[in-house]
Amino acid sequence: RVKQDGRNSFRFFAPDMQEDSARSLALDNALKHAISRHELRLVFQPQVCLQTGRIVGAETLLRWTSAQFGEISPAVFIPLAENNGLIGPISDWVLEHAARQLKQWQSVGITELLLAVNISALQFAQPGFVQHVIELVTKAGVKPQQIELELTEAVALKNPQAASLIMKELSAAGFSLSIDDFGTGYSSMSYLKGFAVDRLKIDQSFIRELQVSPNDQAIVKAIVQMAHSLGMRTIAEGVETQQQQDFLSAQYCDEIQGYFFSKPLSAEQFELFFNTHTKQAKPYPTSKAF
Ligand code: C2E
Ligand code: MG
Ligand code: MG
Ligand code: MG
Repeated sequence: RVKQDGRNSFRFFAPDMQEDSARSLALDNALKHAISRHELRLVFQPQVCLQTGRIVGAETLLRWTSAQFGEISPAVFIPLAENNGLIGPISDWVLEHAARQLKQWQSVGITELLLAVNISALQFAQPGFVQHVIELVTKAGVKPQQIELELTEAVALKNPQAASLIMKELSAAGFSLSIDDFGTGYSSMSYLKGFAVDRLKIDQSFIRELQVSPNDQAIVKAIVQMAHSLGMRTIAEGVETQQQQDFLSAQYCDEIQGYFFSKPLSAEQFELFFNTHTKQAKPYPTSKAF
């Protein structure tokens, strides 16, 4: 925490850094009231199977519209919450509301959906995490089998043995597990075989320039092949073009998520999109590589 302990204490900061830290303190303060002021909401981004063309899942993404600051990206406020102790209540809010939403969708016939929720590394390391997550989803009336927990490589980094144990427990309880932003972390490949991971989410940084980068093409190919050899599925994040989709399809990447198929949607929009799409679902042709 930044504390002013004298009038010269900002001497080493450039003016914009001073503003940054003042803003970050004010943001911090606003975030404390975000739940009670109903400023948080969830959006859901569809995940589509390349073989069947069906929507098989959705990723839950948190949104915060602050009365004071407007729309703030989770890439900004999640790290903030991890530093100011709010990550616990915020994560609980997300899981609880995601599970309730899934229950509501199930009641209108959307039953085959795997709902993914992002888990912060800090949250994952809390004592009693496994029991806590089970309770939260069970209370909402859904089964762990219908929820995927997205973990980052950072989860495994600090204490691979403890992480591996917790993942086994989550998996035994019925949760699906995925590694988010796969390929951007620093952990070795060998840890994967010891972990109870169901799918790898290929980071969007490898997808962005896929069409013009032979290196990215090689990396994506290698990730898909490795995952399949280890019995895991793959999903590509940040797919924005037909060409990217065609390449991924030709490499037998299992699923995609990105603006090309759909942006993150409100719960109401998702339900509509799901129903409309499911009526017209056609498999994608798998032969068009570039
Ligand atoms: P992430 O989990 O890797 O989520 C994917 C991000 O990519 C999302 O950004 C999504 O809106 C964005 N995205 C999806 N399709 C495309 C595309 O085609 N092109 C591009 N350029 N971007 C795309 P968002 O929603 O801003 O979230 C950013 C990050 O914040 C997430 O990255 C995740 O790490 C974190 N986050 C979001 N919600 C939660 C949450 O409930 N809990 C935790 N712990 N973290 C969250
Ligand atoms: Mg994610
Ligand atoms: Mg990701
Ligand atoms: Mg990301």
